[in-house]
Amino acid sequence: MTKIIDGRAIAERIREDIQRETADFASKHGHPPGLGVVLAGGDPASAQYVRMKRRACEAAGIHSVAHVFSADCTHDDVLNAVHALNDDPQIHGILVQLPLFDQIDEEAILEAVRLDKDVDGFHPVNIGTLGMKGREPLFTPATPTGCMVLLQEIGAEISGANAVVVGRSNIVGLPVALMLLKANATVTVAHSRTKDLPAVLQNADIVIAAAGIPNYIQGEWLKAGATVIDVGTNRIDDPDSERGYRFVGDVDLESARGIVGAITRVPGGVGPMTITMLLQNTIKAAWRIAAQETEE
Ligand code: NAD
Repeated sequence: MTKIIDGRAIAERIREDIQRETADFASKHGHPPGLGVVLAGGDPASAQYVRMKRRACEAAGIHSVAHVFSADCTHDDVLNAVHALNDDPQIHGILVQLPLFDQIDEEAILEAVRLDKDVDGFHPVNIGTLGMKGREPLFTPATPTGCMVLLQEIGAEISGANAVVVGRSNIVGLPVALMLLKANATVTVAHSRTKDLPAVLQNADIVIAAAGIPNYIQGEWLKAGATVIDVGTNRIDDPDSERGYRFVGDVDLESARGIVGAITRVPGGVGPMTITMLLQNTIKAAWRIAAQETEE
């Protein structure tokens, strides 16, 4: 029997805890935790993600502000917005929505985010410490953290497991591979130049699929009983649906059903966890900054 992992229900439960913690923080400090968002890119999906994140903040009682730029903005405009959020005492977390317009130096912008407000976990120091033994980053990126929480929630044995991550992007594949390694899995990272992916997957107890190719990974490539977290969120045409399209994962769910032990669905798997982890990081940042201020 294949268990379908219900990311929506898990995220919902965590958000109830977040709401309670937000209220607790606000009652102790006189203001809620705050998230600052920078949107300086032309991708319509980014604007939608920012709207969803701000809506989730509102529902959780987290204050949010957005700096939204048009295509004629300069690198310095965006950098100044980051500096303003760094200095704003009502803001505890900063999110720079990627990708940025071409004229903006992404590396410099991410590096400008105050380390203790880097709730997206993309500051090179946070990614660096994530990869180092004996060091802990202040924050880990939202989507990879969501994958790890889903694995923990279903009681997957990570230590000693063979884990294969399909994809090596800075946003998903690479950080989730580092997190699995920190949790003592034996990690293989597959990518676009990997030869014979089915052979690589054959012995994987845990699979994190993040290649962005609809229904690519077939059930017969997967080990019987494997745990599969499908990060892929791929839009495909669907004339039968009202919108004319729908989203599918990287794993062909129908062929995987009956073979794997547990798998997330798309949508309703990793997606709802991502924003939840961002909210959680924002509260973590708020408590840490408030504690530092009390010490000073
Ligand atoms: P990306 O395009 O930056 O990276 C894709 C990775 O897949 C690359 O490292 C590439 O080498 C690898 N790849 C490409 N073809 C491959 C192949 N044939 N075999 C093995 N590896 C291959 O994408 P991304 O930003 O990492 O996103 C990956 C997927 O996850 C997308 O579908 C995206 O929409 C989804 N995503 C979902 C969430 C969420 O919250 N649910 C968040 C981020 C990304």
